[in-house]
Amino acid sequence: MQFKCTLCGKCCQSMGKYISIERQMSGGSYVCRHGIGNEIFFATIERRFRDRFAESCARRENPEACPFLLKSDVGSHLCAIYQTRPEFCQRFICCTMRVFDQSGKEIGKVKGRASISTNDPRLKEVWERVTSEIAADDDAAWRRAAAEALEREGYLADIYE
Ligand code: SF4
Ligand code: SF4
Repeated sequence: MQFKCTLCGKCCQSMGKYISIERQMSGGSYVCRHGIGNEIFFATIERRFRDRFAESCARRENPEACPFLLKSDVGSHLCAIYQTRPEFCQRFICCTMRVFDQSGKEIGKVKGRASISTNDPRLKEVWERVTSEIAADDDAAWRRAAAEALEREGYLADIYE
């Protein structure tokens, strides 16, 4: 399944230490650097965001945020340079699996191969129990086995390859 970003903005909230603006070109265009991998990229603030860029910039509330992160009126987060965002951001996925309860509410996220982030004590206990029994070496096979085990326990799981 293809990864879906929910626009929570969490991953961009600390990217200010890596993404720097090296030079302003004309209008809303910039030469920038992404410190992870030392990637140089050319960013353009999308027209639809230019009028409200200064007032919506997430840095107004959090100086560590990426300089291009915007906070929308309804609390979600948007990338002002989405079409020209760096390769790092294009490739980034914040989790390899999302876990949902029977109502479809997201209650857990798996990072890397086996590290679960959840506030649900039952899911935490089930995850530790079922994953301790999985023998597969290959990451994809391991995640499929984990998702199947969760489904037997009444959860739903989406895997991102
Ligand atoms: S990649 Fe993940 S953490 Fe980042 S904004 Fe999307 S859902 Fe949130
Ligand atoms: S460039 Fe866009 S996607 Fe990348 S960290 Fe900044 S706001 Fe997030």
